[in-house]
Amino acid sequence: MRRPIIAGNWKMNMAAAQEAVALVTQLRASVNGVPVDVVVCPPFPWLASVAQSLSNSSIALGAQDLFWEPQGAFTGEVSPTMLAGVGCRYVIVGHSERRQLFGETDANVNKKLQAALRYGLTPIVCVGETLAQRERNETAAVVREQVRDGLASLSEQDLGKIVLAYEPVWAIGTGRTATPEQAQEVHALIRRLVQERWGGAAAQGIRVQYGGSVTAANALELLRQPDVDGALVGGASLKADAFAAIIQAAAQAKGVTA
Ligand code: PEP
Repeated sequence: MRRPIIAGNWKMNMAAAQEAVALVTQLRASVNGVPVDVVVCPPFPWLASVAQSLSNSSIALGAQDLFWEPQGAFTGEVSPTMLAGVGCRYVIVGHSERRQLFGETDANVNKKLQAALRYGLTPIVCVGETLAQRERNETAAVVREQVRDGLASLSEQDLGKIVLAYEPVWAIGTGRTATPEQAQEVHALIRRLVQERWGGAAAQGIRVQYGGSVTAANALELLRQPDVDGALVGGASLKADAFAAIIQAAAQAKGVTA
């Protein structure tokens, strides 16, 4: 049984630390004891305040990106050691906004996820096709390449320490969600790709989140799909009640109880 995992990607939202603290304070009260791994990924400046608000809570802290070097002359970047030091346990790697707006490549994704693993952070590695690629029937080829190159040279043991997220770019922030069938099809493909390269145990163990306009209203059907192990949530993670409802939906869909 793969434990469901729901992560909130706040992106560049939450104008003040107090807003961030208020959100997690409400969230920790409503998801206390739910048998789902819950992660929140605030903007860098609010990590320390949120870490403090989450002390002694089962909700884990994550960052939205990292650089692969531990320190040095890399103006504007944040290292894995800094993230670990502030209390992060997870880090998102290769989000489509990083790929599209900031030129992130599969090679960079690979360096970042290796660095995350080296410093004890769990990378949430995002893959997914654009609308144009889907319309050209290239979804499988795109995802295959992102998994092959992004996860290059990972050992089976490393693979056990990462989370994957299938995020069709056309579904992110658009209100246009993949149907449960579309999500399941690509999640099953990802599991097959993992099986081909790292074997059956790795494929059965790895958790693959779906991301793209997940809401309290559509989460249950998406999470009921056998290869959908959780969700990476943007917009709906900014409201404690909506995010908590998605977490509850994950527990219900997977039949897990406290
Ligand atoms: C995301 O940022 O990863 C995401 C899926 O955003 P949204 O839920 O807003 O589509």
